[in-house]
Amino acid sequence: MTPDNPIPAQRRSPHQEIPAHHGSPRHTTPAQRMIALGIVQAGSPALQKRARPFVLPHEAAAARETIRRVRAAMDRVARAHQFAKGMGMAAPQIGIDRAVTVIRTGNQELVLLNPRVVDRSGDCDTLFEGCLSFFDVRGEVVRAARVTVEHRRLDGVVETSRFDGGLARHVQHEIDHLEGRLYTDRMPAGTDVIPLSEYQGTGRPWGDR
Ligand SMILES: [Zn+2]
Repeated sequence: MTPDNPIPAQRRSPHQEIPAHHGSPRHTTPAQRMIALGIVQAGSPALQKRARPFVLPHEAAAARETIRRVRAAMDRVARAHQFAKGMGMAAPQIGIDRAVTVIRTGNQELVLLNPRVVDRSGDCDTLFEGCLSFFDVRGEVVRAARVTVEHRRLDGVVETSRFDGGLARHVQHEIDHLEGRLYTDRMPAGTDVIPLSEYQGTGRPWGDR
C-alpha cells in the first residue's frame, strides 16, 4: 500500500487506460514502472486468492527466503519511486503465494507472518489509498481505526499486536492482499478510483490526522 495526499476530486471510471509506453523512462507511468520492477498487477489471479500460511517453525527457512524477496522488491521500488508516508508489500504482489507482508514507515519495519485480524474497532475512517498493483489511481477506503492482529514468529509462537492510525490502515490493506482482496473491493458503493494526477502534491498528508 502507498498512502498519498488526498483531496476531494471528481469520480472517474475505475478502469483507467494505462497510456502507451513511449520507450523512455521519463515517459512511463508509475504503474508501468511497477510492472518493470516485477510487481504483479491487478487482474492477475495471483492477487485474487488466499495466500498459503507458513507452517512454523517447520517452514522457517521458506519464510525467511520469502521475507528476503519481498524486502528486495521493496528496495527496488523505493529506488524508483519516493514514498513520503511509507510502503507495504504482500508476497502475492511479487507472485509468491505465501502469507507474509512487510510494511515500512519511517525507519520502522514490520513483518507479519500468517497475519489475521482478530478484532477491529467500531469506529472507522475513510481515506484515500494507493496500491503498487494498480498504481496510477487512488481510491477512498473505509477502514477500522484500530485492529488487533494475530500473527506468528518464525519459531511458531503466536503473537498478538494492536495497531492504530495510519499503521492500522496499512496492516488492513496488506492482510487483504493475503486474503485475495484489493482495496477497490472495500470502496463505498457509488465511488470509483481517481487518477493519481488529480491529487498529487495537494491536500492533507495521509496519516496526519
Ligand atoms: Zn496493495
